[in-house]
Amino acid sequence: MITPRIEMTLEKIAHNARALVALYGSKGIDVIGVTKVVCGNPYIAKVLTKSGIRILADSRIENIKKMRNAGIEAQFLLLRTPSLSHCEAVVKYSDMSLNSELTIIEKLSAYAVEYDKSHKIILMLELGDLREGLMPADLDHTIEQILKMDGIMLTGIGANLACFGGVKPDAEKMNLLSSIAVDIEDKFGLQLEFVSGGNSANYDWFMSTSDVGRINNLRLGESIYLGCETLSRKPIPGLYTDAMTLVTEVIESKIKPSLPYGTIAQDAFGNITQFVDQGEIRRAILGIGLQDVNVSGLTPRIDVEILGASSDHIIVNAKDEELKVGDELEFDLNYAALLAVMTSRYVNKVSSDRVNAHEYCERVEQKYRRHVRRMQTTALKDNLSQLVSLNDSSFNLMFEPSIMENYQYMVREAVYDKIGRISKRLDMEDKTLWIRSAYRSFEHQRLLWEERVNSLKIEYPKKELEEIEELVSYFIAPPSKSMHATGGAVDALIYDLKHDSIMRFGTNDGYKIDLNDKCYPYHPYITPEAKVNRKLIIGLFEAEDFVVDIKEYWHFDYGNISWATEKGKEQAIYGIIEA
Ligand SMILES: *Cc1c(COP(=O)(O)O)cnc(C)c1O
Repeated sequence: MITPRIEMTLEKIAHNARALVALYGSKGIDVIGVTKVVCGNPYIAKVLTKSGIRILADSRIENIKKMRNAGIEAQFLLLRTPSLSHCEAVVKYSDMSLNSELTIIEKLSAYAVEYDKSHKIILMLELGDLREGLMPADLDHTIEQILKMDGIMLTGIGANLACFGGVKPDAEKMNLLSSIAVDIEDKFGLQLEFVSGGNSANYDWFMSTSDVGRINNLRLGESIYLGCETLSRKPIPGLYTDAMTLVTEVIESKIKPSLPYGTIAQDAFGNITQFVDQGEIRRAILGIGLQDVNVSGLTPRIDVEILGASSDHIIVNAKDEELKVGDELEFDLNYAALLAVMTSRYVNKVSSDRVNAHEYCERVEQKYRRHVRRMQTTALKDNLSQLVSLNDSSFNLMFEPSIMENYQYMVREAVYDKIGRISKRLDMEDKTLWIRSAYRSFEHQRLLWEERVNSLKIEYPKKELEEIEELVSYFIAPPSKSMHATGGAVDALIYDLKHDSIMRFGTNDGYKIDLNDKCYPYHPYITPEAKVNRKLIIGLFEAEDFVVDIKEYWHFDYGNISWATEKGKEQAIYGIIEA
């Protein structure tokens, strides 16, 4: 798989989100999921909304737009005061924003009126950290002005600590915020929906207080993704701290001195270097650098030492690790490093289901190669049973048009009976077996092969014939190797009479099937509907002692060499019938 990549283990992120929602919920605090460090990644956003989070917050309107366009169902909060030049987009794409400037709120109001919307605002208060926020003394005046504006709804107040000044959100600060909330509600006759106390740094305060006062909301990012609080970066018990993994690749590995030699001047970034002499060491270079990540925020998962980095290279002392070119090296990331890699367009963002899919496909391909080798040693004793035509049967079946003229859809006798029983079972569900193919003569197989070769020649005019044949062999066996020449193989889909169409199996549009690795029967990256439908068809055939093909969910074998090999039988009972 391509590197560098950031692997996002969605199951772990979901676990962390659910655990934090439950923890903070136990004292009446609702969690807003902050997506800014993952740049509004829609896979992660979806996981958060499935984990009990109703509001997503991001500091970039572009990320909010991206999540909306991806169909994420949530309310969206812009997590900083909008720029004047963004106000229109903020009203259009977000439901709420944090605010601290009247000029900007006025502009939001104008756009809200224009778009006939109600934009909610949370007023931020300065409590000592010295980033955004109104000075408490200016609060009354500001609220008076806001209440006069159309299209704007003052929905809460909030504070943000431990970000710029590193000031702790302790009991004193939180009690202050609570009392300001109570004052405002009394003075203006308001009911504040949000009294938002802060971020992942509020964990210690939360754990040490029994009375959270009016604080009913926190905006959490880092503790969801990295599993820690953020005053001293302690892991939070029960959370995963390894949900995010940076995977890099070794592009050079050599024994070299540990001290640069020659006359020393500035390095690429204007610094004078300093290194410790450790004698000769194995130096591995990784294909990622300062353009992609804050290297100081990386911790290798194995015992190697980062010596330094330039724009596109990280140099590590491999110590006792046998790092060679092509090896992958994994790192934990801190917040700054995570932010950087998620923002870099040179780092691939890979969610765990894609990693799972990739691993699944590799396993299938390995298994297939092993299977093909083992097939060569499986014995055969043909029981010489006859080919019978499914076409002439009285079973309810449907037949896919064939390139072979006058095709009879023949199978061996026992297979014929099995198909009959499957057909009867489907009758009860208002469904019919759709037979794509059965016995195929060499001539038939050759036609199929040539048809596919010709269509690929048109698709890839620059490819050599050999390459094209390899592509074709991926899904179509050469005539003398095809299990369809035994009369023990059936290709089938299911037709749903209620919906008057072929069911969806994940790679098909009607009976047209896209040939790609999603055809592997248990591919994890297909729709839930396709999974259920595959389970149905595979279940029906397996109940009749067929085996599903290793790579094709529609291909079933009985009696032939592939079947005997897969089932570990002493011998196959159907050999190739030449015709
Ligand atoms: C980034 C941010 C957060 C989330 O902070 P974490 O430390 O990731 O939990 C919350 N509120 C505001 C205003 C922020 O900018």
